[in-house]
Amino acid sequence: MDGKLFTDLYIDGAWRPATGDARAAVHDPADGSVIAEVAVAGIADCLAAVEAAEAAQAGWAATAPRRRSEILRRAYEIMRDERETIAGLIVRENGKVLADARSEADYAAEFFRWFAEEAVRIGGDFRVAPNGDKRIVVTRQPIGVSVLVTPWNFPAAMATRKIGPALAAGCCVVLKPAFETPLTALYLVDVLERAGVPAGVVNCVTPRPAGPAVSAMLHHPAVRKLSFTGSTEVGRILLHEAADRVVSTSMELGGNAPFLVFDDAPVADAVAAAMVAKMRNGGAACTAANRFYVQRGIAEAFTKALAAEMSALAVGPGADPANGLGASVSVGERDKIAELVDEAVAGGARAETGGGPIAGPGAFYPATVLTGVQHGTPITRTEIFGPVAPIVVFDSEQEAIDWANDTEYGLIAYVYSGDLARAIRVGERLDAGMVAVNRGVLSDPAAPFGGVKQSGLGREGGSEGIEEFLEQKYLAVPL
Ligand code: NAD
Repeated sequence: MDGKLFTDLYIDGAWRPATGDARAAVHDPADGSVIAEVAVAGIADCLAAVEAAEAAQAGWAATAPRRRSEILRRAYEIMRDERETIAGLIVRENGKVLADARSEADYAAEFFRWFAEEAVRIGGDFRVAPNGDKRIVVTRQPIGVSVLVTPWNFPAAMATRKIGPALAAGCCVVLKPAFETPLTALYLVDVLERAGVPAGVVNCVTPRPAGPAVSAMLHHPAVRKLSFTGSTEVGRILLHEAADRVVSTSMELGGNAPFLVFDDAPVADAVAAAMVAKMRNGGAACTAANRFYVQRGIAEAFTKALAAEMSALAVGPGADPANGLGASVSVGERDKIAELVDEAVAGGARAETGGGPIAGPGAFYPATVLTGVQHGTPITRTEIFGPVAPIVVFDSEQEAIDWANDTEYGLIAYVYSGDLARAIRVGERLDAGMVAVNRGVLSDPAAPFGGVKQSGLGREGGSEGIEEFLEQKYLAVPL
C-alpha cells in the first residue's frame, strides 16, 4: 500500500488533532499490528464539525448544480486513478481480500459518478389547483446539514453512497466512519478536498465511543438529517435519538438474506451465484446470503459442489492475491462467527468443511458449510457476517417462501431456478427490498438499495438516493 495516511480530524477544510490530542490505534486484522494512531474526536470536536457544516450550508446550497456535479465528477476521476491506493487501505484496515477491495473501490467511485449526473437533474412540479385560483409549484431543496454514520464492512462504498447524494443535493455533511476502519474514509475526504469541495462542506470526525458524540450532533439545532448504515440494534437507538428533534432519517440496517435454490436450477450456475452471494467480502456484507434453502431433489448435489468450492478457497492475508478469503475485521468479530457455528453444531448441524477458527495472530475463520440445519435455529435467525453457509432442505415452494419470510429482516433475498416464471413468482412473494433472480450480486449505483421490515427505511443509489437529502417545498402562486 502506498499513499499518505490521514489520521487527524477534518473540520472546516483543515486537518486538526482532537482537542486534548487523544488517539487510538487502528489495527491490521491479518496480523494484529498497529497501522496508525487516529485522532479520537471529543464531543466539542464533533459539534465544531456540525458548526462548520452549518456555516457552509447556505453557500453550498446556492452553488450551481453544474459546479457541484463537476466536483463530484472530479472526485470520481481521482478515485479511479488512485484505485490501488484505496484498495490497499481497505485491505489493511478491514482484512478483506484484494479482489474484493478493488471491486469496492470501483463500486465506491461509481457513486460519485452517478450522483455527479444526478446533481443536475433535480426536478420539480407544476400543477393547477382544482378550483383554479392558484398555481402549485413544487420545488426540491437540500434538507440541510447531514450526519452520515457508516460501518466497517465497506469503508469506502458506504461513505460515498451517502456523501455523493448529499453533496449532489446541496447538503453539507459530517461523516462519522466506524472506528475499526477510519483510514479509508479519511483518505476519501482528502480526495474530495482535492476535487474542489469548499471548506466546511465535508467534515469527518472519529469519536470513540460513537454513541455520545452522535447523540450530541443529532441534538444540535443545525442538523436536519441522519443517514445511517449499520446494525439494526444501533439503528433502533438512533431512531429514538433522532425523534427528539424530529430529524429525518435514512436507515440501512442489518440483513438475513435467504438464498432459495429450486430442484430445476442448474447446479453449477446456482453454486457460482451462491459463492458470490455468500463469499463477497468474506461474508461480511448486509447482502450476504445468510441461509440457504435448498429443495430436496438438488440438495445433495448443491451441497457437495458448494463445499468443494468453499474448501478450495485459500485463507490468509487479504493483500496476498493467492488468498480467496481474508481476515474478519477483528478477533471479536471472528469469535462471534465461531460461537454461532459451535452453537449450530451442538444443536445437530454438521460442518461439511471448515467449522472452527484458525489459530494464529490474525482474525481468520475458514469457509464453512453446515448441513442438517433446521429452520428457526439461531444460525438461521442471526446475521452471521462471516463465511458460513447453513443449508436447510425444503420440499415445497410454499415452505421455502414461508421460511424465507420468517425473519424480522427484509433487505435482500436470492432465488435460483431454471424456470424464470417461478423465480419471478417467488421473488414477488418474498418480503425484501431487493430480490436477486438467478444472480449472486445485485448492488448497482443506479438501483434503489434498501430494505423493508427491520432492515431499514429509505433507499440509497438510483434517482431515489438523492431524494433522501432533498426536502419538498410547495409555493402557492396566485393568478
Ligand atoms: P454498527 O451498528 O455496530 O456500527 C455502525 C456505525 O455506527 C459505526 O460507525 C459505529 O461506530 C456507529 N455506532 C455504534 N454504536 C453507536 C451508537 N450507540 N450511536 C451512534 N453510532 C453508533 O455496525 P457495524 O458492525 O459497523 O456494521 C455491520 C452492520 O452493518 C451489519 O448489521 C450490516 O448488516 C449492517 N450494514 C448494512 C448495510 C445496508 O446497506 N443495509 C450495509 C452495510 C452494513
